[in-house]
Amino acid sequence: MTVLSRLILRYRTASAVHGFCTRSSEIDLTIAESAVALSSAIPVENSNVKGRNVQWVFLGCPGVGKGTYAARLSNLLGVPHIATGDLVRQELSSYGPLSSQLADIVNQGKLISDEIIINLLSKRLEESQAKGATGFILDGFPRTVRQAEILEGVTDIDLVINLKLREEALIAKCLGRRICSECGGNYNVACIDIKGEDGSPRMYMPPLLPPPNCESKLITRSDDTEEVVKERLLVYNEKSRPVEEFYRARGKLLEFTLPGGIPESWTKLLQALNLDNHADK
Ligand SMILES: [Zn+2]
Repeated sequence: MTVLSRLILRYRTASAVHGFCTRSSEIDLTIAESAVALSSAIPVENSNVKGRNVQWVFLGCPGVGKGTYAARLSNLLGVPHIATGDLVRQELSSYGPLSSQLADIVNQGKLISDEIIINLLSKRLEESQAKGATGFILDGFPRTVRQAEILEGVTDIDLVINLKLREEALIAKCLGRRICSECGGNYNVACIDIKGEDGSPRMYMPPLLPPPNCESKLITRSDDTEEVVKERLLVYNEKSRPVEEFYRARGKLLEFTLPGGIPESWTKLLQALNLDNHADK
């Protein structure tokens, strides 16, 4: 049996077992088509060859900072940083056939169906493969055990980094997020300073303020309201905690609690990944 047919079988079986979500007739994609797209997008034949680049996954609550650290590591290691959140936002702003449906789902803080995510992800992996990339750092995928099973079926993930942050800091950080409507720069106006108590150290995360020419153009993402942030955390806890368990059971999970702001956290993360010697690059 080929990898491809095993994958399609796995996808169908997983759908039956988990009573997978209802599909809209507007989405012109079958489960088999999605699986084919994903398996052809990942260079399976390279996945066990030494010398290919890393295939890592970032897990963590929405807003924890996965994007920041995944982007830095992707620069350091020379692999594409593939964030499903970005893929969804690109699709939304393209006003394509999925955009109005995606807008409803995102604005309610719900999870997007596996078919849509896998379709977007496959397209992006194909693009990076065409450019010669052999590894990747995924950010925002997999978000469910089913997605993790599908991914495990098509390629070997080397390491899963689970980023953590205290919840009060997390919510403040999400509500402080701002984007420059002109250049797309990401900033944060929240200044988080939580006193140390009961042995836990003080946590200080300074705001990430925009340069003067962006100041008047800051916008808040429509899904960064307190209600939606809390809904996202609820959905995350329900659906994605089991994903942590999935990788923990396979010995692939690295737990990393962010100690504070970016400079401090970045240094400690590199130590945890044994990448200290890359730090000067
Ligand atoms: Zn700007």
